[in-house]
Amino acid sequence: MDKRRELLIKKLFGIVIFCSGFLHLYRWIKSLNKKQEVTILVYHRVQEYHEESNFDASIISASPKNFEEQMRFLSTNYNVISFDRFIEHIQNKTRLPEKSVVITFDDGYKDNYRNAYPILKKYGLPATVFLTTGYLDNITIPWWDKVAYIINETECTDFELTGFGRYSLKTDIQKVEAIHSIQEKLKKIKEEEKNLLIRKLEDILNVEIPEDLGRELFLSWDEVREMSKGGISFGAHTVTHPILTKVSTEKAKEEIVESKERIEKELGKPVKLFAYPNGEINDFNNHIKEILKDNGFTCAVLSIYGTNDLKSDPYELKRIRIDNFDTLPVFESKLLGIFGRIYNWFFKWNTQ
Ligand SMILES: [Zn+2]
Repeated sequence: MDKRRELLIKKLFGIVIFCSGFLHLYRWIKSLNKKQEVTILVYHRVQEYHEESNFDASIISASPKNFEEQMRFLSTNYNVISFDRFIEHIQNKTRLPEKSVVITFDDGYKDNYRNAYPILKKYGLPATVFLTTGYLDNITIPWWDKVAYIINETECTDFELTGFGRYSLKTDIQKVEAIHSIQEKLKKIKEEEKNLLIRKLEDILNVEIPEDLGRELFLSWDEVREMSKGGISFGAHTVTHPILTKVSTEKAKEEIVESKERIEKELGKPVKLFAYPNGEINDFNNHIKEILKDNGFTCAVLSIYGTNDLKSDPYELKRIRIDNFDTLPVFESKLLGIFGRIYNWFFKWNTQ
């Protein structure tokens, strides 16, 4: 299903669920259920959606305006707790505050500092940012942003990538579709092969990725330190963001340990939280979990949709992803757990 249709369905879903009173009813039913649950939200970028942007716009989670609306809503209707506090409750098996929510960000984009941090400060909300340290050190930029940058910058209007097919880049819509299609195919292959294909794409489309591109896109260590003093905690998310089950165990260990040590060196405090790159069901296993346990991590988060309770495996914590253009009814439906069920059912039915 294309992105525009998906967005339209999401907007309609929000209007229907809000106007029908279903949201109100479900909120009331949920208030009767005293189950100990924690919802961990995951954001990536907080910035305005610019179609002309060279980077991957699909990773924008909210505009600053929508983000503020969501934070205001959380601060009056939910208990936003820090990740450390949540872990203390898991370890000590103590009662969680009702309607507990943890806010997280993945990768370490600069707009987390520019746009999200001032809003979090304004409402006094704690959050955790999982850093891919190689992005901050300008070793590399994310492969999804590289693909978007190459496609958006090229002057070619037509090309073929062996094994991937033929793409036309005459219109903006075709460009967005090409980016999405290439990204989906790249997700399924091994890390080394993925990097080789991106380099091939650079050659075919005659685009050179500037070496300092990461500086404008990712946090600086000074910004990380400032946020750390202002109530934001930091977790590790590897050095170069490989899917850990698609590299050797030694490489996985190196990526995990080096990113942890890098953040600890810059902040002067221990790092105990981890986020698996990509974070889907096949992106971690027991070996990876053992590496985390052996190296002082107390928990790890996934990208798999769901909530957690005190019995959840601390190395397999589920999260709920917030996406750009989530209206407040959609945002609340996600928090209440209805959105995922209805949306997944609809998508399965719609794509059959
Ligand atoms: Zn990530």
